[in-house]
Amino acid sequence: MLANSLEALDKAHLIHPVVSLREHERRGVTILQSGQGCFLTDSAGNRLLDGFAGLWCVNAGYGHKSIVDAAAEQMMRLPYATGYFHFGSEPAIRLAAELAELAPEGVDHVFFTLGGSDAVDSVIRLVRYYWNARGQTAKKNFIALQSGYHGSSSTGSGLTALPLFHEGFDVPGARQHHIPSPNPYRHPAGPDGDAVSAAVVQSFRDKVAELGAENVAAFIMEPIQGSGGVIVPPAGFAKAMQEACRELDILFVVDEVITGFGRTGPIFACEHEGLTPDFITIAKGLTSGYAPMGAVLMADRVYQVIADGAPEGVALGHGLTYSGHPVSAAVGLEVLKLYRGGMIDNAHSVGAYFTRRLAEFRDRPLVGEVRGKGLLAAIELVSDKATKAKFPAEARIGPRLAEIGYRNGIIFRAFNDGTLGFAPPICITEDEVDLLIDRVDATLTEIS
Ligand code: PLP
Repeated sequence: MLANSLEALDKAHLIHPVVSLREHERRGVTILQSGQGCFLTDSAGNRLLDGFAGLWCVNAGYGHKSIVDAAAEQMMRLPYATGYFHFGSEPAIRLAAELAELAPEGVDHVFFTLGGSDAVDSVIRLVRYYWNARGQTAKKNFIALQSGYHGSSSTGSGLTALPLFHEGFDVPGARQHHIPSPNPYRHPAGPDGDAVSAAVVQSFRDKVAELGAENVAAFIMEPIQGSGGVIVPPAGFAKAMQEACRELDILFVVDEVITGFGRTGPIFACEHEGLTPDFITIAKGLTSGYAPMGAVLMADRVYQVIADGAPEGVALGHGLTYSGHPVSAAVGLEVLKLYRGGMIDNAHSVGAYFTRRLAEFRDRPLVGEVRGKGLLAAIELVSDKATKAKFPAEARIGPRLAEIGYRNGIIFRAFNDGTLGFAPPICITEDEVDLLIDRVDATLTEIS
């Protein structure tokens, strides 16, 4: 009864992100009621293994009382403190310091946002400010990768390269460009990783030559492309892009909104290749989804230019009311304690077990590729293994997979093209991985 009335209210009033609104009116909502560890319970009482950590964000898992206590204590003591006009709060300062300690060498400064989209948008504004401060006012163009996702804000959605986020919204903007995705399975130079890397770096150099390096402000990439289908670039690709950016005097931005906080093993995926970006964007796992928060991490060499960009006493005109929100920051501090107190170690060991077990699906009839790093992985289904042909849209393979998976007690990201994306909480145990594998097995058996 309660569920029925909620469903009616939902259809009448709540606009959900990234759904067909008409389809949602027909299909209705699935209400998630509670969570514990890696499991969710819906309003019908079904218990589901959350193979997707909410939306790649609940890295610590559900039901941690210590996180809830940290939030409640901060809310009681001081629910809000502005960061504007030289004010601040203890949790925001401590969290910034911890992040600076964890970030790559030379990345020492933190600007807090509410999530990933406004972190990317903040970077865009700060990059422009940086080049203007350096007197290189023609450097306005941004380059990103096809299949990349950098949020759905007004400007940042132009760096995103998924057609769904462009069509009908008049993006990307004139100064936003995309080069091919370093996808070893689909790039014409693949599957050889070095060849794919070299080809995409060359595409970058060609694009810069076309625009003129003096007109290019920044390049942005995810260490693993999440929303584009969990595409894992060849080892060494990010480092090669960083080197090309440095050589051409272009800022190098790494978007770690998904890959941060143990998702691929270490706290930051930058660690795999020893990257030292000019900017890093983070969100999601920063608070494990218990409270909204994102951040821009900024290299000191960039900070110094921006800090000198205005005359003494003139403010940097960029701010958000909830930047450094003390409750979110208190949550972030407690979450980091959990990560450092064993969950990162778990992400390393269980992540290796997870990718090994997932690889068992490689020889299944519809499986084109199994790929991943740590606890971020995908199985790409194809209609023909030899030609790698994707399923036609009318096969509705994604929605069917989601529905079958749910019936089998597992939530994963069912991409429309038939890719299954996985990002379970990083506290997942080997036994829970075995259960996940069993449920994916049942799902693939049913779809073939
Ligand atoms: N950047 C990346 C790599 C993301 O995956 C996302 C969200 O999934 C964003 C940015 C946007 O973050 P948010 O949804 O918190 O605005």
